[in-house]
Amino acid sequence: MSPKSEIEIVIIGGGPAGSTAATILAQAGRRVLVLEKEKFPRFHVGESLLPYNRRIFDGIGVWPKLEAAGFMKKRGAQFLMGNGSVALRLNFSKGSFNKYHEAIQVERSKFDEILLNHAREAGAEVREEALVLGCQVHAEDVTVRYREAGGGEREVRSKFLVDASGLANFTANRKALREDYPGHRKIAIFGHFAQVDMPQGDEKGDILVVRRENSWFWLIPLEDNKTSVGLVMDCAEFQKSGRDISATFHEAVRDTPAVRDRFAHAKALDVLHVARDFSYRNRSFVEPRLVRVGDASGFIDPVFSSGVMLAMAGACQGALAVDEALSQGKGMSDGMRAYEKTNRKSLDLYWEFIESFYTRSFTQLFFQPTHRLRLVCAISSVLVGSTELSFAIRWRLRVFFLLARLNRWVPIAQRIPVG
Ligand SMILES: Cc1cc2nc3c(=O)[nH]c(=O)nc-3n(C[C@H](O)[C@H](O)[C@H](O)COP(=O)(O)OP(=O)(O)OC[C@H]3O[C@@H](n4cnc5c(N)ncnc54)[C@H](O)[C@@H]3O)c2cc1C
Repeated sequence: MSPKSEIEIVIIGGGPAGSTAATILAQAGRRVLVLEKEKFPRFHVGESLLPYNRRIFDGIGVWPKLEAAGFMKKRGAQFLMGNGSVALRLNFSKGSFNKYHEAIQVERSKFDEILLNHAREAGAEVREEALVLGCQVHAEDVTVRYREAGGGEREVRSKFLVDASGLANFTANRKALREDYPGHRKIAIFGHFAQVDMPQGDEKGDILVVRRENSWFWLIPLEDNKTSVGLVMDCAEFQKSGRDISATFHEAVRDTPAVRDRFAHAKALDVLHVARDFSYRNRSFVEPRLVRVGDASGFIDPVFSSGVMLAMAGACQGALAVDEALSQGKGMSDGMRAYEKTNRKSLDLYWEFIESFYTRSFTQLFFQPTHRLRLVCAISSVLVGSTELSFAIRWRLRVFFLLARLNRWVPIAQRIPVG
């Protein structure tokens, strides 16, 4: 074990962002300490990944381990209207702008443990059941206070702090940097089920996103007989209904033909979980000697399964920026500022899609997309996780969003009922 004073970077959190940052920094020869409050494996939401995750898996060298774990392959995403009237399938291999054609659906307890162990094998020191209680960022160094499994408190000093604490948003919440997305307060109710009737054959492994009038379901096949099912709705609507979590979830299943028909023989494998108020962005992602990555920089909404990909992509860039700053003997570097800019742009890109998904005019066009001008290919390239957009993709997206706005007044797409 490194003496305390020799640690160069402390990372709060061992989720996908924390382990990715730890792996990259350890591979660069840095002395890294990850403090993770849970004992892995532990349950976590966020199970449907995007094809562009593969680029990151290859980059940090973890793909052979993930492949060996035998996760369900995901080759497409299906968007269905709750009443069963319309369905759209995005086949990842068809988009002419897509470089990666396949993703994986992962039980996060297994996936996160593989990533964390990979960081260990790369040379990072990982302490589980280590709850970070406080931190102080000084001009020359950082001090982090944490509680160990046995209850004792310890302090560690480093040159840099990477906050990868997820929705706990450790450092930003303490400085009141969190900004919520206006009008976007959601609650998600989710669990694992056996005997859900999911697509087979070429479509096996597809995620199903089922649009209801003001809410939506995800159905993510994790194994042959294990499916993750979640309902996302407005917090206000949930509170107004006065119903409990279970009644709300099961009533929504009964009211949604596209889900109900698949749920006829479903059996719950565990209790229902809840997440709420998860849509926010911090006012700053970097400060001298501090970089916030993953959900600890911001998170929007799970509808396009972008969370883990954005978290890991941001962690890669954030970690490289920290390595650069350390090499230059600086607390703040151009690379850190560039990370802030890129991460903000990626969140903006998905925010535009997500905000639009909840509107009727966009949904009508999205479910009946025009194949002219290869507009669908451009949308598909974003929804598989590409964030570095060529001009060819950007102008097509602008045309698509313009058509979606026009569709409010001029019927560009057929007027199908949404829900
Ligand atoms: C309802 C819902 C559904 C989602 N579905 C998807 C999906 O299908 N696909 C997808 O890609 N993304 C999805 N996401 C998003 C995804 O879960 C996150 O984007 C992803 O987990 C972010 O990774 P992270 O490493 O930043 O945070 P996390 O995975 O949350 O990891 C943070 C870690 O920090 C630890 N930690 C927190 N505080 C402390 C502390 N004080 N001390 C020590 N450790 C601490 C936690 O225990 C945790 O292990 C979903 C999110 C929600 C809310």
